[in-house]
Amino acid sequence: MPGTVPTMGWVDTHCHLQLDERGAEPLLARATEVDWVVVPGVDVESSKASAHLAVLHPGRVVPTAGLHPHDAGLWGVQGPAITEMAGAAAAIGETGLDFYRNLSSREEQIGSFQAQIDLAIELGKPIIVHCRDAFADVYSIIEGTGVAAQTVLHCWTGGPRWTRRFLDLGVMFSFAGPVAFETGETVRLGAAEVPPERALVETDTPYLAPPPHRGAPNEPAWVALVGVALAGVWGLAVDEVAAVTSSNAQRVFGR
Ligand SMILES: [Zn+2]
Repeated sequence: MPGTVPTMGWVDTHCHLQLDERGAEPLLARATEVDWVVVPGVDVESSKASAHLAVLHPGRVVPTAGLHPHDAGLWGVQGPAITEMAGAAAAIGETGLDFYRNLSSREEQIGSFQAQIDLAIELGKPIIVHCRDAFADVYSIIEGTGVAAQTVLHCWTGGPRWTRRFLDLGVMFSFAGPVAFETGETVRLGAAEVPPERALVETDTPYLAPPPHRGAPNEPAWVALVGVALAGVWGLAVDEVAAVTSSNAQRVFGR
């Protein structure tokens, strides 16, 4: 329907379309206000699937290669293949630390995270970082390795204090459904500290659907609801949030 619906031009910088049992195509087809999406790999298989989706949807799907902290124990086995795929990927990750679920040991998570940071630095590519109950460790690793300017903190849920500390390091903050949750007051207070030019929006599809869709499988079309929440926090018009976050995404992911 060209000409009938003005596009808002969102970029969903984190959606696992390759992990969604509904398949990527219907989700992309109805995300009419979303210009392009980043599909993070979480292991070898999903990184390959991300690269495949990017071939099927050139310009609309941007691929990454990485190993999630949940599976960090597999780095010894999967690291070589992920490293090989990294050259053609737009970003490294999703990596990071998850000391909430601890599905891999802390040592394994730190080892895998550091290896992927080395890769991001070597290739000069952005790195997508998952951080749950691990603010202090993620902070000191990022600070110590000098990767901050390439770092995207995905699904950022930090309050004002951690947000200010990471802001000073020079990272980008990617906001997801929690900034729109009724219980998201801390996330909104954190977001209020972030200048719009340092922010991205994402859905984390199929997880974390924003209201009024909470509990349903998430999808890229709903990224605008994250943007609406940020517009409220920043006192900006929604289309201004779309414009600034999309231009940030372009800058970060080189599209
Ligand atoms: Zn993710």
